[in-house]
Amino acid sequence: MARSGCAAAKLALSQGWLVTCTDRRADAPRIEGTTAVYGEHRLADFLGATRIVVSPGVPARMPELVAARDAGVDVIGELAFAAEALSCPILAVSGTNGKSTTTHLLAQLCANAGLRTFEGGNIGRPLSEAPRSEWDIAVVEVSSYQMELPGHFRPRAAVILNLTPDHLERHGTMEAYGEHKARLFARMGPDDAAIVPADDARLRRLTAELPGRRFLLGGHPGVRVEGEALVLRGVHDPGEVPLAGFGLPGKHNVENLAAAVLLAVCGGLWRRELDVTKLTGLPHRMERVHEGRGVVWINDSKATNVDSALACYEGWSTPFVALVGGQGKAGAHYEPLLEPLRRARHVLCFGAEGPVIHAALRRAEVAAELVPTLAMAVRRAAELAQTGDAVLLSPACASFDEFTDFEHRGRRFAELARSS
Ligand code: ADP
Repeated sequence: MARSGCAAAKLALSQGWLVTCTDRRADAPRIEGTTAVYGEHRLADFLGATRIVVSPGVPARMPELVAARDAGVDVIGELAFAAEALSCPILAVSGTNGKSTTTHLLAQLCANAGLRTFEGGNIGRPLSEAPRSEWDIAVVEVSSYQMELPGHFRPRAAVILNLTPDHLERHGTMEAYGEHKARLFARMGPDDAAIVPADDARLRRLTAELPGRRFLLGGHPGVRVEGEALVLRGVHDPGEVPLAGFGLPGKHNVENLAAAVLLAVCGGLWRRELDVTKLTGLPHRMERVHEGRGVVWINDSKATNVDSALACYEGWSTPFVALVGGQGKAGAHYEPLLEPLRRARHVLCFGAEGPVIHAALRRAEVAAELVPTLAMAVRRAAELAQTGDAVLLSPACASFDEFTDFEHRGRRFAELARSS
């Protein structure tokens, strides 16, 4: 009964269902007009239900849910439940990294083209809030958790941006993780569009026999970055979309834009309706938070795994000081970061995982220093950075050793940078 659960309960109420809300937390929010079973789950509530709507935070293998499914109860994820009540087409964005940015870029493209656009899902507003208004299109970010109980979820067009080891603690293997993600496409019809990266053999294989049409990021039919333009091929409106005026830093953001543009066109928009010059990014993703004494400070606190940090450092072309560390993720390997971090003026390793990353960097003879906390890292960065440098916080780790979440870490970084 967090945000998605509460929104789903209200949606179910509005549809005339008799609703029971249950949460192990005793102090979960109460929704008027529903029965609350808080502080415990009662199996009888599960077995006696016609339908169970599951919040994305709840694993589908929870014993009460498994028992209910075995007893023939219709168990469905919140996203799929919400989608049933929507009459507008859905454009869906999934993948390990870049989901929120791509979702936000796509929603802006649609809104700027004059469509009444719902933006939400895994970030921002839960999709269960959408059916209460009129929309022309819904742009939703989909996490792999939300695909555990996909019901009949059928987006008009959907992308899996990339697939790298993250959340393996929940999904076990990469294969299982990929299969979860590919469920996004399972209910598509022949006119729907499934978009995957051309260079991901696993995803190409998992989507080879789809009912929908398949398009490729970096391939044909699909979209490619060619010089200063995105080139669309094999779509209803093929041709170029110039990149001039697109302001988000980093190569990965051009890739995110490419995915957003392809989704928009697959969703029925025309190239001439797409304006890439007005697009803005999201906080904590390559966000410029301070500039002082010739040094620019970039908050990429959302880079909580190696691949997302790699995108940041690889895509940065001017001199920089790097801040990496925090709480390490199970099975993380830092080797991919060694080459791009070799280009750094200096690397500051902080937090619980600091010593591990520091040791890996030192073995590879990369200039690095170990400091206990983010605050110390910022203080050292201010001393080391020279005019024209950037200080990049793209930590490659989760934040929970020092902070409540990546947003807390990012806000603290911005404060520290401003007072440095
Ligand atoms: P998500 O919602 O999937 O976590 P975000 O858009 O919030 O993705 O970006 C998270 C981090 O991932 C960013 O801080 C950035 O460093 C990195 N990133 C963004 N786009 C990509 C991409 N296409 N490939 C790899 N890394 C990316």
